[in-house]
Amino acid sequence: GKTMRLDKYLKDMRVATRSQAHNLIQGGHVTVNGECIKIARHPVDPGLDEVSVGGQLVGWQQHWYFLMNKPVAVVTATTDKDTPTVFSLFNQADYRDDLFPVGRLDKDTTGALLITNDGDLGHRLTSPKHHVTKLYQAQVTGHLQTADVETVAAGITLKDGTVVRPAELTLGDYDVALDQTTITLAITEGKYHQVKRMIASLGQRVVQLERVSFGPLILGTLLPGHYRALSETEITQLQ
Ligand code: URA
Repeated sequence: GKTMRLDKYLKDMRVATRSQAHNLIQGGHVTVNGECIKIARHPVDPGLDEVSVGGQLVGWQQHWYFLMNKPVAVVTATTDKDTPTVFSLFNQADYRDDLFPVGRLDKDTTGALLITNDGDLGHRLTSPKHHVTKLYQAQVTGHLQTADVETVAAGITLKDGTVVRPAELTLGDYDVALDQTTITLAITEGKYHQVKRMIASLGQRVVQLERVSFGPLILGTLLPGHYRALSETEITQLQ
């Protein structure tokens, strides 16, 4: 078959950037058919040769899954003419032009965002028939009450008449000085500005919003602006 340089092969396989590939090869971490190769221009036949990096066989991975902690001031879009997008935060080695965000977080919302190139999964997870639970933590104006919890649990009607599915509101601390309540809200839909509109229908306003989890994907200690690859377990749980 047709051959290519070892360094280009590693780059095309998304194992490393070209310069990282050079370091891996020169450092003796790369084998071709079991033989350590320290020459970047060594020819590789992608259809025939078995390449390993650090003892791990390099295989073609078709689908990629990342969890990002979306920071404020970036938009959940693939392109935008004047605002940085979530893709501006990607390392070159992880970026592919077929990646897309599953669902959307507002520009001023932070938190868990799934980014993948698995179109079937993306469509399934965002379909209105599929009810992925999304947990939000928010700072809202006013002092929410148990009556609000019951209203949300019954399935509220937004100001424009849209009826949303029953959701679970949990009340946290009330800050008297700021007149704000910390809440969590678990919803199973993804309507446009849903959390903000639900809080508005309770007569209050969202001051700060973070998505803590998206289905089985939990933000944990992932810092804003950072992302990580999903584990095999997480990918299975999403299916
Ligand atoms: N609901 C909102 O209002 N905004 C978001 O970003 C996500 C959910």
